[in-house]
Amino acid sequence: MNFQHLSYWQDKANQAQPETRLFINGEYCQAQDGSTFEIVDPAAQRALAQVARGKKADVDHAVRGARDVFESGDWSQASPAKRKAVLNRLADLMEQHHEELALLETLDTGKPIRHSLRDDIPGATRAIRWYAEAIDKVYGEVATTGVNDLAMIVREPIGVVAAVVPWNFPLLLACWKLGPALAAGNSVILKPSEKSPLTAIRLAGLAKEAGLPDGVFSVIPGFGHEAGQALSQHPDVDAIAFTGSTRTGKQLLKDAGDSNMKRVWLEAGGKSANIVFADCPNLQQAAATTAAGIFYNQGQVCIAGTRLLLEESIADEFIALLKEQAKNWQPGNPLDPETTMGTLIDSAHADSVHSFIRDGETQGKLALDGRDGKHPAAIGPTIFVDTTPNARVGREEIFGPVLVVTRFSSEAQALELANDSEYGLGAAVWTRDLSRAHRMSRRLKAGSVFVNNYNDGDMTVPFGGYKQSGNGRDKSLHALEKFSELKTIWIALEP
Ligand code: NAD
Repeated sequence: MNFQHLSYWQDKANQAQPETRLFINGEYCQAQDGSTFEIVDPAAQRALAQVARGKKADVDHAVRGARDVFESGDWSQASPAKRKAVLNRLADLMEQHHEELALLETLDTGKPIRHSLRDDIPGATRAIRWYAEAIDKVYGEVATTGVNDLAMIVREPIGVVAAVVPWNFPLLLACWKLGPALAAGNSVILKPSEKSPLTAIRLAGLAKEAGLPDGVFSVIPGFGHEAGQALSQHPDVDAIAFTGSTRTGKQLLKDAGDSNMKRVWLEAGGKSANIVFADCPNLQQAAATTAAGIFYNQGQVCIAGTRLLLEESIADEFIALLKEQAKNWQPGNPLDPETTMGTLIDSAHADSVHSFIRDGETQGKLALDGRDGKHPAAIGPTIFVDTTPNARVGREEIFGPVLVVTRFSSEAQALELANDSEYGLGAAVWTRDLSRAHRMSRRLKAGSVFVNNYNDGDMTVPFGGYKQSGNGRDKSLHALEKFSELKTIWIALEP
């Protein structure tokens, strides 16, 4: 991939004029009350744009349009082959606008342009194409009845789906919902994070160009307590597919209970354990992968391996290797294609990470300190060792480049430490012993377990969590289950 040069991206950034309006019923429009909010480029520390601030009236408008087109059948009853063609066109357009989307993502979030170009936008495009390609290959079932009956089990779209997503991988996580939800025939209203709405807004225009009927896909930028809450409490939204914090996820469950019992699918927080045994096949490679598993995306990854568990006999050697690897992850200008670590999403979030680090200093030893005070939103790789049991840095989700290392002396202890968390998103085991790898994999309480890798995978495998990391799964054919109802049709035949 050609990543170009810093000056290329700086010129493009200076010329960028992003679309900032809501997209409802096939048209860009201002919020009904005309209000807007400012979004900030966290790297340049300057205002990026004024974005239309969707609220309840805008949500009501979008839900009415989404319902009307759903009932019309233009999309919901269209043949899977037709939906596939439109979604494939959307994926083509995303490929054509790859650089534009990558730039918007980087300006909005502070993530390195090389990662937006290499990971975020291609990943988002792949999600749309994968479900486009899948949808006309998923069959219903015929049950094993007697000859005088026919029982069919079919899947139907649910209706109006709200997708509410966070800021760490804005377009990618949106497309993990949009791909299966649209392919299954639903109407979707996407609410991007108030911190990173630009790629979602741009995607809406591309979807129209691809031929999605008006109303099938709307985008409402705005705040959680306004547009988000209007969606989660709406009596005519049939399902909400959420990625974000566990705290917000709990609120959505309450809102669903207080409104119409809409289905609530949650991809929430994590504090994942990465366990390295002394018989790890390659400590050097494990250290490199461990560093990427915590420092990539400035540590703002739900499944980041934030808790590193090291078998006593290799702990000191591994920490030394890890500190060496951390040198590959140093904050820089996100628009420079050489940069591997950008800025955190904003200074307020950086302040929260700083407060965790200050707290950690009273509960453990800083083996590596990523604070240099040069940029208000930049924090480099930070590693704590020998923290006290139950230290806050070792239990709570920090969502920054902060790793907490704990030593263990037996497999049983490693398992106990790993499972001692309210979260259960991911876990990794590094060992040469196949039996141990299998034993651990089965007993770790996490939605994904990685053996001798961290966070490998692709669209073919489900992604989601146990415990308070959520329910339901993104990616793979299993994601279609969230966006469809299962219907039994029992037909009594004439004997
Ligand atoms: P957040 O919960 O603050 O916000 C997520 C989204 O929910 C935003 O669009 C926000 O506007 C909206 N929202 C907030 N309050 C709402 C309300 N009352 N009603 C409806 N919508 C509301 O999370 P965040 O800070 O944007 O993202 C970081 C979190 O996301 C972390 O906890 C991280 O672990 C999690 N995350 C999870 C996954 C996963 O797949 N499990 C992936 C990425 C991020």
